[in-house]
Amino acid sequence: MGKPTGFLEYARQGNPAEAPLDRIHHFNEFHPRLSRDDRRRQGARCMECGVPFCQSGAVLNGMVSGCPLHNLVPEWNDLIYHGNFGHALERLLKTNDFPEFTGRVCPALCEAACTCGLHGDPVTVKENELGVIEDAWEAGLMGPRLPKTRTGKKVAVVGSGPSGLACANQLNRRGHTVTVFEREDRPGGLLMYGIPNMKLEKTIVQRRLDKMTAEGITFRTGVEVGRDADPRDLLNEYDAVVLCCGAAKPRDLKVPGREAEGIWFAVDFLKETTRSLLSTGLAEGTYPSAKGKHVIIVGGGDTGNDCVGTCIRHGCESVIQLEMMPKPPDCRAENNPWPEWPRVCKTDYGQEECIAVFAHDPRIYQTTVAELLADEDGALRAVRTVKLDQSLQPVPGSEEELPCELLLIAAGFLGPQDTLPQALGLERTPRSCIATPEGSYATNVPGVFAAGDMRRGQSLVVWAIREGREAAREVDAFLMGTGSEA
Ligand SMILES: Cc1cc2nc3c(=O)[nH]c(=O)nc-3n(C[C@H](O)[C@H](O)[C@H](O)COP(=O)(O)OP(=O)(O)OC[C@H]3O[C@@H](n4cnc5c(N)ncnc54)[C@H](O)[C@@H]3O)c2cc1C
Ligand code: SF4
Repeated sequence: MGKPTGFLEYARQGNPAEAPLDRIHHFNEFHPRLSRDDRRRQGARCMECGVPFCQSGAVLNGMVSGCPLHNLVPEWNDLIYHGNFGHALERLLKTNDFPEFTGRVCPALCEAACTCGLHGDPVTVKENELGVIEDAWEAGLMGPRLPKTRTGKKVAVVGSGPSGLACANQLNRRGHTVTVFEREDRPGGLLMYGIPNMKLEKTIVQRRLDKMTAEGITFRTGVEVGRDADPRDLLNEYDAVVLCCGAAKPRDLKVPGREAEGIWFAVDFLKETTRSLLSTGLAEGTYPSAKGKHVIIVGGGDTGNDCVGTCIRHGCESVIQLEMMPKPPDCRAENNPWPEWPRVCKTDYGQEECIAVFAHDPRIYQTTVAELLADEDGALRAVRTVKLDQSLQPVPGSEEELPCELLLIAAGFLGPQDTLPQALGLERTPRSCIATPEGSYATNVPGVFAAGDMRRGQSLVVWAIREGREAAREVDAFLMGTGSEA
């Protein structure tokens, strides 16, 4: 154990954040990192528990707690404390292909399960992870590492989100020749066109894509398999095909007036903002703008929060997030003890910004949309809302009309799109994901595997990476008859 009294001596110190009223003027990341000495002190807070829940990824009371990648958290915290950043990097990369992504966007399931968090503040696990990997990039330790031999086996990965990238990375390291097909103009999936730039700068995604390209992976963008390429041709051309297409079918709003103009699915709105940011530096007219508009976001979750932050940067007139569920408690309830994932109210960056700019939290709880009202030209002008009771039934007489020229639907996803699964005759689960036997990634079509949100349903980057890694291990065994170490 590094410093037995570290957790008593040092307080938790998170990365600082630029003030909300300053950061809303740009789309860049706004968390400068701690110095190495400060980072070492944060590593020293880890108690190296005998039973480290932080790396367990265990399901407790229906929710996962601890790292799904089983990152070797206590080990690298100890190495950080001792200033052995090179060795910490080695241990970190053993379980996580892309710590620069999880170190920025992971909800840190590890920290919810950290023993320090039982009576105080958990270790800054996520930021320690980010510190190790970013130091390594800066020190030039992340150059291309090519496989020593090639197996002659060819694998097609369809979809370049975190699951596809992790799968491609692991297969390439095992010597297989990997081609990644992506329908968008840039690879990265939701890392590129979903998660906003202020949470994950796209230069960080591109830096990893460049490394993977230099290591021999081919990216073919602008190719939608099932439309631009016949999936059956892929089966003939490649020894295995891994589908990592995400769960991109958004849940729609079924209310009168839905046909009004000025309504976007959140993910399309965020995608077009990022595309414009990267292509034209947000030139007017190249993205759906919230400037000067009253915005209502349907969905009080993380995607809704990303929309709040984005709309404020566009210069919206007002922004509201509607949430059907009641407000969660501020602290853990008695039936939600440590180390379970805490079901508490958190105020994320976009909501903080809304409070700073408009002096109120954007979230209105137990409320939904009853009707959308358009003007004589068919453009959205207002939303009629209604309150919901504890059983989510409308409360008579609680209707209210709110001005709204832009409505964003962030109400979750209903599973993968149908074209590709139908073309290949893939079996689906009752939730419409791709069906595979438990603990396996093989579909009912021989040689075709599925991973990430497409198999699991809408989830997290950390889960997508785990699925991509595990699918790669299974594909490798399928190709070689026996598994090999990546
Ligand atoms: C707005 C938003 C913000 C999020 N923020 C976070 C966050 O902060 N932290 C977190 O952990 N998770 C977050 N998530 C969830 C996380 O991004 C996803 O769980 C994760 O990206 C899933 O990875 P994936 O590889 O399975 O799929 P995706 O990332 O969805 O990638 C799938 C890719 O497949 C491509 N594709 C689909 N069909 C085809 C086809 N037929 N041919 C070729 N290409 C195809 C798509 O274009 C896409 O690029 C967020 C999700 C959204 C929508
Ligand atoms: S990947 Fe997420 S859960 Fe795992 S150690 Fe990193 S921040 Fe924690």
